[in-house]
Amino acid sequence: MTGGLWADLADLVLPTECAGCRLRRQGLRHGVCPGCVRALRALRPGPVRPVPAPPGLPQCHALGGYDGPLREALLAYKDHGRHGLARPLGALLAEVVAAAVGPVGPVALVPVPDTPAAARARYGDHLGRLARHCARRLRDAGWRVQVHHAVRALPRPDSVTLDSAGRAAAAAAGFRARSGRVGVVEGARVVLLDDIVTTGATLAAISRVLSERGLSPHGAAVLAATTRKRQQQ
Ligand SMILES: [Zn+2]
Repeated sequence: MTGGLWADLADLVLPTECAGCRLRRQGLRHGVCPGCVRALRALRPGPVRPVPAPPGLPQCHALGGYDGPLREALLAYKDHGRHGLARPLGALLAEVVAAAVGPVGPVALVPVPDTPAAARARYGDHLGRLARHCARRLRDAGWRVQVHHAVRALPRPDSVTLDSAGRAAAAAAGFRARSGRVGVVEGARVVLLDDIVTTGATLAAISRVLSERGLSPHGAAVLAATTRKRQQQ
């Protein structure tokens, strides 16, 4: 399934700064420099589990740790408006979904929703865009995939002002199922999508919301997993 993915990078507009290492290079022909492409291509999805894992957290798979070119590319995409990275990052996320699900079959992707305020601050719904590219990639590889925006985010307090318990409580209260029928295909495995997993509180909260609607997630697929600090300051 990876065939052609890195050729996609050649389609991107030509920035002067590599999205993976931030180095400005003369004659850089891709959004990501060859060294960073090699580093990203070497990553393989695997299971991750925050410690402690919040109750209700489904099994999570991540492409890699939140560091190096993966971290830089995510920051460039989310915080610096490099929308062209949605395609290669979405394709990488498709690899994680494939690892999380196993055999090919119908899949229902549920991206973690942004609050409207966060979407405005971040040049639009970055995860929804990743989910579309991820789904397209999986379909090209023969999967039956639908993206369901089944959950909405409620306005919430600024997490910077909350301690870890406060953040967990805010995450738990932060989501609602959208009203109306979701229309997931019979037998489809529900997979949550996010860019980064840290404490797992968000994924656990959304998993609970979906389970109450009879849509228990099979698992979650994320691009990067942070290593938690041993002690909160
Ligand atoms: Zn680079």
